[in-house]
Amino acid sequence: MPTIKLTKDVSVISGSPNTLVFDNRIIVDQGGKNSSIDINAEVQLATHGHADHIAGLFKKDAKIRYLPIEDYWTLNIIGRRALVYGFSSKNSDIFMYDYIKDNLEFLDNNIRISEVEVIKLPGHTPGHSGYIIGDVLYAGDAFFGDKVLEGYSVPFYIDFWEAEQSLYKIKELAKSVQNIVISHGPIYNKNKMITLLEHNINYLHNIVNKILDLISMEELTAEQIAVKLKPDISPTNILLNTITIKSLLLGLDNIEYEVKTNGLVFRKRKH
Ligand SMILES: [Zn+2]
Repeated sequence: MPTIKLTKDVSVISGSPNTLVFDNRIIVDQGGKNSSIDINAEVQLATHGHADHIAGLFKKDAKIRYLPIEDYWTLNIIGRRALVYGFSSKNSDIFMYDYIKDNLEFLDNNIRISEVEVIKLPGHTPGHSGYIIGDVLYAGDAFFGDKVLEGYSVPFYIDFWEAEQSLYKIKELAKSVQNIVISHGPIYNKNKMITLLEHNINYLHNIVNKILDLISMEELTAEQIAVKLKPDISPTNILLNTITIKSLLLGLDNIEYEVKTNGLVFRKRKH
C-alpha cells in the first residue's frame, strides 16, 4: 500500500480506510486491506466501531487499544449488525459488511497519551470521533470522497442531523490544523479537503431538498425514497440508506407520516 508522508511525524497508508500512523507509535483506523500491516504500534485507536475500522484493536501487542465508549456495540457481531443494518439474524448474504466476526475485548477506557486529542464527531455512529495527532485531524467517516458519495447515493449516518453538526465542527477545527484525513476518499492537502468538506455539506442539503421534492408530489415509504434516489440500489444498501433517510425525515418539521397498506409513508405537510 502506498504511504504518503503528511508532516514530519504523520504518514497515511492509503486504503479504505486510509490508516494514519504517527511516529510509528500511534495508529488510527487500521482496517480493510491495511489490517495485516505489521507496525508494532504502542497505541491502536479506532474512530468508530464499524468492522472495516477495528482490525487494529485486535492487535494484542499494542499497550493501549481505544474505541469511543458509545461504540461498544461493536464488541460482538449482533451489536455490529444492529448499528449497520438495524437488526441481526442468522448468517445471510445481505450482511455484506461483516468483515470481522470475532468478539472484541480488553479495550482501554482512555488513551492516556497527551499527543492525542479526541474530537467527538457523532452522527455516522453514536461514538464516532476524530483524533488530532501531530497537527493532523483524522476525521474518519465524518465525511467522504465524491466517489463514495455517488456510489452509495446517501452517505451512511445513523443520525443525519448530528452528522451535519459534526461537519460544521470540522469546518471550524480546520482553521487550527495542518491537514485533514478521511477514511474513505482521496488524500489531499488541507485546502482541497476543505473543498471536499463543503461539497459534503452541500450534498447533504441537496439530499434534504430532493427528498422534500419527492414527498411533496406523492407519499412514499423510506424504502421507496431509497429506490428513487438510486434505482440500481442493492438489497444491503436499502437497509443502510433507509436508516439515514428515516433519521433525515423525522428531523424535519414540515412532514407528516401515516401507516398505509404499503407501510409507513411520509409526505410533506401542505400549509
Ligand atoms: Zn463507518
